[in-house]
Amino acid sequence: MIPNLLFYKDMKKIQMVDLQTQYLQIKQDIDQGIQRVIDSAQFVKGEQVTAFQHHLEQYTGSRHVIPVGNGTDALQIALMALGLQHGDEVITPTFTFIATAEVVALLGLTPVVVDVDWDTMNLSVEAVERAITPKTKAIVPVHLFGQCAAMEPLMALARKHNLYIVEDACQAIGARYTFRDGHTAQAGTMGEIGCTSFFPSKNLGCYGDGGALFTNDDELAARIRAIANHGMVVRYHHDMVGVNSRLDTLQAAVLDAKLPHLDEYTQARQTAAAYYDRAFADMQGVLVPGRTEQSTHVFHQYTLRLTDSNGEPAPAVRDRLKAYLADQGIPAMVYYPVPLHLQKAYQDPRYGKGDFPVAERLADCVLSLPMHTCLDEEQLAYIVEHVKQGLALCSH
Ligand SMILES: *Cc1c(COP(=O)(O)O)cnc(C)c1O
Repeated sequence: MIPNLLFYKDMKKIQMVDLQTQYLQIKQDIDQGIQRVIDSAQFVKGEQVTAFQHHLEQYTGSRHVIPVGNGTDALQIALMALGLQHGDEVITPTFTFIATAEVVALLGLTPVVVDVDWDTMNLSVEAVERAITPKTKAIVPVHLFGQCAAMEPLMALARKHNLYIVEDACQAIGARYTFRDGHTAQAGTMGEIGCTSFFPSKNLGCYGDGGALFTNDDELAARIRAIANHGMVVRYHHDMVGVNSRLDTLQAAVLDAKLPHLDEYTQARQTAAAYYDRAFADMQGVLVPGRTEQSTHVFHQYTLRLTDSNGEPAPAVRDRLKAYLADQGIPAMVYYPVPLHLQKAYQDPRYGKGDFPVAERLADCVLSLPMHTCLDEEQLAYIVEHVKQGLALCSH
């Protein structure tokens, strides 16, 4: 232990996400961008919002990008724009961040949660198929932790049953999905509508709240723009009930300075993930994130699964390891400890404990390690070494 501590004594403090170091790398661009907004005083609907919108359209290949206030608003506006009615069913994974189901419930629609796949932790296509009823109107796949859900089979299901797909790409901006015919598309640009978040810790994060919708459909884009702006097409004439949700000009300036670096950021995450993968691939008691051939992984999170010698979830080991790492100055997080169907606010007579066993198993054993664009080799070596040491200590 002592030689390690000496060896690592000048190491930079390890954080789940290091936004300070990332800022310093492009400080001048960010500062100038912010200063220009202040000088112009166009804090709302400034030209930087439109500039960023166009740059993101170019980057993603989406015909329309509609910037809004945050990722949750984006999901809500997407469901509003599709004209879903009270009682319509919307299928979402039970293993995700709450926002995905929250907006469904808020709009008086019926969330129908389904189980996920143990390896990719993404929506199980078979589970979606079983959950489809005559009331089902939409599927909201979440590209969890930065890898696309199985879009090709999901899109085939949606076509067959005449359903909409709203992609929750809040964690997956820049991930690319390859279809069997060889064509590729970015996360968020494959369904009728895609949603993303620019929350600071997301892969493309601003310095506050922000989000966007993607669509290739001109009519939907017009409706989304109107809904995000009080349901207004002609000023002070309100054609539908809308909301007020917009990306601040200051946030757009930050995002426009960061977007040219997004591919480098993704590569840095993938390099860190490859380091973790190599270190943990052959270890007993940990499973590295499962990959699909169809999607690249942009590693919003790097999430291990801790298991016992029978491959069963080992929640006690996971919790002891997390505490051990914290003692060594290494943050680690459980995303997500409680699946949606076990959340108090989402209690539903249709579901109970045991109904979505894969999600429950994941909730029992996942542990996300530090993942960001500025992890250096020294930090990675320190993390890996202590995960190994911690596991040896905590498995008994
Ligand atoms: C972050 C996130 C959201 C919500 O985004 P906000 O900008 O925080 O509202 C929704 N879904 C998923 C999967 C997310 O990770």
